[in-house]
Amino acid sequence: ELVIGILALQGAFAEHQEILQKFSGKRKLEVIQVRTPEELKRCDALIIPGGESTTIALLAKLSGLIEPLRGFIKTKPVWGTCAGAILLSQAVSNPKKGGQELLGGVSVKITRNGWGSQVESFEAPLEVEGLRDAHMPFTGVFIRAPVVMELVQMAREPPIRVISRLPDSLLPNATSNEGLTEASTPFDNVHPELTDDCRFHEYFVQECVLPSLAL
Ligand code: GLN
Repeated sequence: ELVIGILALQGAFAEHQEILQKFSGKRKLEVIQVRTPEELKRCDALIIPGGESTTIALLAKLSGLIEPLRGFIKTKPVWGTCAGAILLSQAVSNPKKGGQELLGGVSVKITRNGWGSQVESFEAPLEVEGLRDAHMPFTGVFIRAPVVMELVQMAREPPIRVISRLPDSLLPNATSNEGLTEASTPFDNVHPELTDDCRFHEYFVQECVLPSLAL
């Protein structure tokens, strides 16, 4: 049985769990909430949800999860949504005053709250490559969303593949590591767990988690 963990310190973790439990696919999935290093150890893959990256980082620190998470990201698939994407990034501009801790793992530079504050939240139809019925738009939900500013290609790392961009902008908005030599760390800033479209979650399981088990 495949165990997918959702980091459950703060934010939209219950929604991710709910949507994953709706489809089971060919493999049996167990979806667990992760709050301790022991729970993390049980997981084959992890989702870091949207919420507030600074709060999630603080709670992860208090729970002794920062180093275990950094180790996990190096070897297993991790998907970061929104605040989760910020935590996975290498550097953040517009961090919280006083700085904020990142987990790293994905070679991108990101701007926190890049589209503005809560009142400037919006939805936009996206085409996302690799999803089932990819020609059918996926509704992106942008809530104080980060903007990916720069993909930093690191030597010896598989290239980052951009699977979706906002129609009127060149900024990548969901990307995924291609190659799966070690682990795949897709991330997005569009809260797929707040829609009733489960194609992103299917993508994670089919394209990132299942291939990693065969490595
Ligand atoms: N701006 C938030 C942060 O810094 C992210 C918002 C979100 O996850 N919707 O963590």
